[in-house]
Amino acid sequence: MTASENAVLDYKALPKIELHAHLSGSISRQCLHEVWLTKKAAGETDLQDPLIEMPEGKHNYDLKTFFPLFSSYIYNLVNDAPTLRYTTLAVLRDFAADGVVYLELRTTPRAMPAAGLTEAAYVQTILDTIAEYEEEQEQSSRDLDEGRPGRLRTKLILSIDRRHTPAQAWRVLALAKQFLGRGSDNVVVGIDLCGNPAAPLDSQALSPVFEEARRVAGLGMTLHFAEAECSASDAELDLLLGWRPDRLGHVICVGERVRQQIVERGGMGLELCLSCNVHAGMVGGGFESHHFGEWWKVDEAVVVLSTDDVGVFGSPLSNEYALVTQHFGLTRAEICTLVRKGVDVIFGGEEEKARLRNILWVD
Ligand SMILES: [Zn+2]
Repeated sequence: MTASENAVLDYKALPKIELHAHLSGSISRQCLHEVWLTKKAAGETDLQDPLIEMPEGKHNYDLKTFFPLFSSYIYNLVNDAPTLRYTTLAVLRDFAADGVVYLELRTTPRAMPAAGLTEAAYVQTILDTIAEYEEEQEQSSRDLDEGRPGRLRTKLILSIDRRHTPAQAWRVLALAKQFLGRGSDNVVVGIDLCGNPAAPLDSQALSPVFEEARRVAGLGMTLHFAEAECSASDAELDLLLGWRPDRLGHVICVGERVRQQIVERGGMGLELCLSCNVHAGMVGGGFESHHFGEWWKVDEAVVVLSTDDVGVFGSPLSNEYALVTQHFGLTRAEICTLVRKGVDVIFGGEEEKARLRNILWVD
């Protein structure tokens, strides 16, 4: 792309879809700081200020430091329904401000016993917050001009953690079924496999759950896939592909055999997260050698640029598009084609696909 082409493509103004964003990891440091100030003033927390715990500009969390950040810090700060609502609203506003018009947020249902919140109430709180936000957008957009890129619509994916016991995993699937298709708009649309790739995958525990999930009509399936060498054995990748997922996240440590299998499936969604992979040291050689470069031209796959954890890695989706332009030289037309192609693999249904095609087909 030439400098002049670059100048006319404003990545924030470009309507975008985001399919791989973890709710807790998408909360900005500023938002966590606001929560901390409130809780500190009320004598409700002994935690350190998030701006000290996670200094601005620090983005090099690797697999050893990333997961403890959640288990020992963020989850202890976001520990009741009002905070869950507050942080979810902030996440939705941040994505909307970055030009995202369709968002699939994912989260592992988390009971908050001290606050009297069950796993089901956790999911309900998030769905209520999404509904509240969309209502708020509806109100404010009445006065705005026609022809704006479109409002943000959000769907929810429930995650099963690699470390889950069978009972926990079955509960997540039960919640997905309970909330699937409930109401006209704000629904759970998919199920995910997430968690620390260093944790062994208990195939006997999880296979029956994902095989059952595959049989639930209307429920999409996405899996964190080959994130690290330790989670990329032939046995694991064959098992995961055997669950017949619709989309795969990361897809880093795949050899030619598995790559070919993905291609042969045809139309598989690949959620690729450049900044996360580079900052966390999951890929070597920097942005230029990221596997986005290998996949984006493959017709048989659908690459969707995603952020993973923008609160931690600090790169909003608009910046991910700027990065692929910078490092892989995509033209404006190629960027627009990339965004549009992603619509094919959303879990939000045909009506939503039609709305997005309407928005994204207007240059
Ligand atoms: Zn992820």
